[in-house]
Amino acid sequence: MKCPCSPQKDYADCCEPYHLGAAAPSAEILMRSRYSAYVLNKTNYLYKSWSQSTRPTKKSLKQDQANQWLGLEIIRTEQGTVLDSQGVVEFKASYLGDGGVHSLHEISRFIRENTRWVYLDGEY
Ligand SMILES: [Zn+2]
Repeated sequence: MKCPCSPQKDYADCCEPYHLGAAAPSAEILMRSRYSAYVLNKTNYLYKSWSQSTRPTKKSLKQDQANQWLGLEIIRTEQGTVLDSQGVVEFKASYLGDGGVHSLHEISRFIRENTRWVYLDGEY
């Protein structure tokens, strides 16, 4: 199976290891694995990879799974490497919604929490 975040890669070589518990080495990779988790309805992973200070309840995450996601495009990254404690990833994600294809454009902030990258919040 191809990875939802990147049609050139196999899921097993891309986001699956993170869904199985490996630590994402960069903010961008964490962002990709979270996009794939949305596509694959991995609510637990979305919950675990979200900062404790900003994450929604598991119940509301489960209810938030209506979109059919079509693709991810990373536009820009700032910091977020192995050397950083925070990072920014700007991306566009397209999805099928009411009336056709829509695009979500977000600038997401990531931080390290207990040595692991987690999603903090985003601006649209
Ligand atoms: Zn992937």
